[in-house]
Amino acid sequence: MMQPVILRGTNVTNQPAAPLVPPKRILLGPGPSDVPPRVLAAMGAPTIGHLDPQYLQIMDETRRMLRAVFQTKNELALAVSGTGSAGMEAAVVNLIEPGDEMIVCVNGVFGTRMRDVAQRAGATVHSIEAEWGAVIDSGAVAQSLKAHPKTKVLGIIHAETSTGVHQPLEEISRLVHEAGALLLVDTVTSLGGMDVRVDEWKIDACYSGTQKCLSCPPGLAPITFSAAAVSAMDKRKTKVASWYLDMTMVRQYWGEQRVYHHTAPINMTYGLYEALRLILEEGLEQRIGRHTLHHRALRAGLESLGVRYIPKQSLTTLNAVMIPQGVDDAQTRKRLLEDFGIEIGSGLGPFKGKAWRIGLMGTSSNKPNVTLLLAAMETLLPEKGKALAAAGEVYRTAD
Ligand SMILES: *Cc1c(COP(=O)(O)O)cnc(C)c1O
Repeated sequence: MMQPVILRGTNVTNQPAAPLVPPKRILLGPGPSDVPPRVLAAMGAPTIGHLDPQYLQIMDETRRMLRAVFQTKNELALAVSGTGSAGMEAAVVNLIEPGDEMIVCVNGVFGTRMRDVAQRAGATVHSIEAEWGAVIDSGAVAQSLKAHPKTKVLGIIHAETSTGVHQPLEEISRLVHEAGALLLVDTVTSLGGMDVRVDEWKIDACYSGTQKCLSCPPGLAPITFSAAAVSAMDKRKTKVASWYLDMTMVRQYWGEQRVYHHTAPINMTYGLYEALRLILEEGLEQRIGRHTLHHRALRAGLESLGVRYIPKQSLTTLNAVMIPQGVDDAQTRKRLLEDFGIEIGSGLGPFKGKAWRIGLMGTSSNKPNVTLLLAAMETLLPEKGKALAAAGEVYRTAD
């Protein structure tokens, strides 16, 4: 049983707290990433009503731009109120009814979370497990689909932020559809930084979060559903378990009907709108290329310092590396933060204390950040390599 929490010495006074002065950081962790000034400025624009004709137009344009970034023609594409995990819950609870069978691929923290969400939604869950740091093998997917022919949905993480693994999806998508199931994909750490082809790869439910490669503060979860997924929702016999995330209602607000459901987080939508404008101004392809280039440069630099990457198939948006022998995890991250203003992420689960997670997401993925981090690592790590020279070589040959 849960013990009641007893609050001791709760500090209650009428004094206003100190003024809010957050420090300036360079965010190279697993998210949030740096937010461009234009996005922050957009969020400071006047709040208007959630049914104001001007706001409705902003929603329509946001949906249009989201479709471009998801590379989809899906009618149902919108931004769920809440962070990436709300996107995960929305995708799962809208497709799953109690007793439905779902396969969840688990090779890190976020696959584990998706399994938990699916179980809470009442699914009978079958897991496909792989070692942390490895991809999910399509042979294992074929086997599981064969063993569980009633599977309605298969859920998988495209960019497993806890291990840095880049999961290929095309073959798995083919198997899932051959088995008559729906494919649900988490693209929280890939959308806006890596190729996510919802239509071409036949993804039926795909969600993301604003604070990773979209370079917007946390608070919204872009999501899209295929026609097949919408038809599965239409055939439900039971109500969606979550009132707040029920797409049958949320989509009536985002759609033509404009039926009030909950008050939209207006200024967050402004932020996403501006972040999407920035992505399309840059060009999706160029942006993906930029993430690849800076990942390659960082990687060359880190490897010259004896730092080893965990996954064979690494994301370009997140670099999961082993901490070299004899290097103090907490102390190094503290010096990066205090001396260089750089935040990187620590390891999770089996990699706790053993790995670092270095994000190069969205706006954060740039040459000055790579150069500064490598210069910092050259001073902080014992192995004396030529990290800046190695990265410089990548930049020179890329021009
Ligand atoms: C960050 C992340 C999430 C959760 O997003 P929150 O915004 O923290 O709720 C889900 N999946 C993946 C792969 C992530 O990296």
